[in-house]
Amino acid sequence: MLRPVTLLLILLASPPAPAVETMRIAMSEVRGEVQVSGQGLLLGMDTEEASFHALGKRQVTVRRRGRKLEVNGAPIVGDAVRFRAGGLADDAGVPGEVPLRAGGMAVRGDVVVRLYREGLQLINVIPLEDYLAAVLGSEMPVSFPPEALKAQAVAARTYALQKKLEAYGSAFYLGSSVLHQVYGGVNSEDPRTHAAVEATRGEVLTYELAPIEAYFHASCGGRTESGHAALQRDLPYLQPVECPCGKLPASRWSATVSEGELQAALEGSPEGLRISGRTGTRRVSRVSTADGTTLDGVRFRQRLGYTKLKSLDFEVEKRAHGYHFTGRGYGHGAGLCQWGARGLAQGGWSYKDILSHYYPGAELQQLY
Ligand SMILES: [Zn+2]
Repeated sequence: MLRPVTLLLILLASPPAPAVETMRIAMSEVRGEVQVSGQGLLLGMDTEEASFHALGKRQVTVRRRGRKLEVNGAPIVGDAVRFRAGGLADDAGVPGEVPLRAGGMAVRGDVVVRLYREGLQLINVIPLEDYLAAVLGSEMPVSFPPEALKAQAVAARTYALQKKLEAYGSAFYLGSSVLHQVYGGVNSEDPRTHAAVEATRGEVLTYELAPIEAYFHASCGGRTESGHAALQRDLPYLQPVECPCGKLPASRWSATVSEGELQAALEGSPEGLRISGRTGTRRVSRVSTADGTTLDGVRFRQRLGYTKLKSLDFEVEKRAHGYHFTGRGYGHGAGLCQWGARGLAQGGWSYKDILSHYYPGAELQQLY
């Protein structure tokens, strides 16, 4: 069995080497039919070697009929079709330069429509660097300093490649929601995200020659969390480190949670709710109630909602109208802290210094 990185290096090096590393991102699912539009629309099979044929139309409808696909009413062989925006005969367009529209998104690269469960699934097949330029705009404010954006670009590239290796051979590697990396297509790009991606092209964080699990979050509140405590990922490069974001007033939060919401989360009475365990960074690892119910901190936050309980670094007290939580930070706290990266960049740190700070022991490699 090849180690993932070996596989990756073989894939990148073996002829015919793909000109660019591509990603397959699940865009959305639809029920009966979907419109795909773009300039000089081309149609092909869903393979890298497929030849594409001009459709002579700017928009087509892909419909599911039983276990078959139809494009503008004509049956298609196979369970997936792939679309590409082509250059018209007189303008020699580069594939991916003109975005395609499908399922409410405008994307670069190709769009695959395939039979999926009872409906259709849309997948964007896109060069990794183009994908990153869009992800970056969704994951970090583009107004952040260039070195912070570059650090985020390397983290997002590493995360994407690691997910690709994990999902190798699957129809898609990543979703487009907050569960993975938020991807909004062409509309999330910005000249500043392009610059950060271009400046770090092909750079990936590795540990023992494999891409690391490059988790990141908005704000740690002053100290990052271990991968083990935050995500059950006991990894040497996800260790608690000090972070300047704790000095920001914006890293503080408070929330009032009703007895009913707590009752639902705890599956029992919240009477006597208290913090009964903390991690090494003083984040809540366990809560307990008077009737002896206990709940894991990560699960507690998940059940109350990640936007309500912004972090596990909190105190709680009972008040007249429910329970009042006050805390610091936003997110699971492991790996790169985005607001911390902003602060370090403003203090003159380079993106390489920022990455070594938040992923101690990881090495930056030029993968392509
Ligand atoms: Zn921080």
